[in-house]
Amino acid sequence: MTAPTAKGIATRGFATNSPEARFEPFEFERRDVGPNDILIDIEYAGICHSDIHLAKDEWHDLMPAMYPMVPGHEIVGRVTQVGDAVTKFSVGDVAGIGCFIDSCRECVACEFGVEQYCMNGMAMTYNGTEMDRTTPTYGGYSKHYVIDENYALKVTADGDLSGVAPLLCAGITTYSPLKKFGVGPGQRVGVVGLGGLGHMAVKIAKAMGAEVTVFSTSPGKAEDAGKLGADNFVVTSDPENLAPLANSFNLIIDTVSANHDLNPYINMVGLNGVLVVVGMPELPATIHQASLIMGNKSIAGSLIGGIAETQEMLDFCAEHGVVADVEVISPDRIEEAYDRTIKADVRYRFVIDMANA
Ligand code: NAP
Ligand code: ZN
Ligand code: ZN
Repeated sequence: MTAPTAKGIATRGFATNSPEARFEPFEFERRDVGPNDILIDIEYAGICHSDIHLAKDEWHDLMPAMYPMVPGHEIVGRVTQVGDAVTKFSVGDVAGIGCFIDSCRECVACEFGVEQYCMNGMAMTYNGTEMDRTTPTYGGYSKHYVIDENYALKVTADGDLSGVAPLLCAGITTYSPLKKFGVGPGQRVGVVGLGGLGHMAVKIAKAMGAEVTVFSTSPGKAEDAGKLGADNFVVTSDPENLAPLANSFNLIIDTVSANHDLNPYINMVGLNGVLVVVGMPELPATIHQASLIMGNKSIAGSLIGGIAETQEMLDFCAEHGVVADVEVISPDRIEEAYDRTIKADVRYRFVIDMANA
């Protein structure tokens, strides 16, 4: 495959062309490095379940798939070129890219540093366009990325960067609501789904000082949950396991990617507590209003995080030694990684080695 309108820096990646298609080598070009841009040689790209939803066009009504699609929005690599006006990065620095690469910079959301909610629509790292609304974006399953330095993150960790890549989506998506709702010592946090986001939520909530309970459909993950730092592990398939936990959590974060019932988790949220949904299954959920009314409970949604908060999260994780538990794969194993992730058999993030691809 080759991109239709190519000009700039030649690169290559791995693209899919339809919901059923396999990934194939894909040659395309990044834009030339402008005054505010940096060129990153990508070393690792995490596989987020959102990549799978998008590649398989499961979010068709919300964000239709744009093919050819090069997914990947958990990116770390080394800066190899900087534009004349760049101040934040030097050649040789480690840089990260998350879920968006630009935004309008003028709206109230951009002004308040929550660019992910840009009123005019952020430029997604892939399956979107640049702010010109015409140039397609291709993600991190590729060798290089050119990005405005204001939308790239500084990574201070060095050495093995594979566990850092997933922080750029799974890390910030869980850090942001945990921080917003004041998670800390003395609080009880529940994490639903022990996958990529879930295992980051466990590590980050523990680093914030909370007591953490994992809710999982996979009994085989119990031992891992303890190693990740969880205090308790509850298998959700048996309702009897959940009944004693009614009204007992300050916050429950639901990271489940598949359609499921939210009501058991609302029941376990305590007085004034909150159920934060970050997982985005294909179908809408049904809830019983009374279950929120009785106990002044809330449901909140949360989308990744702004650039400043993503930097704050990276610095927090560096300070607390938090990285993702990863399985590093070569690009010829993307399909296998997708299949295993869908089967909840990911421990706990697949990361593609792009440096050697
Ligand atoms: P993941 O690694 O596949 O983890 C999802 C976990 O959900 C699985 O490991 C599994 O954990 C549980 N699960 C899977 N199928 C289930 C089912 N049928 N019933 C109950 N639980 C099930 O996915 P991820 O990358 O963490 O992403 C999770 C979701 O968050 C996806 O929908 C993704 O698109 C979304 N997301 C949202 C944002 C945001 O900004 N809001 C950002 C990134 C991703 P157990 O084995 O422990 O049950
Ligand atoms: Zn993601
Ligand atoms: Zn904006």
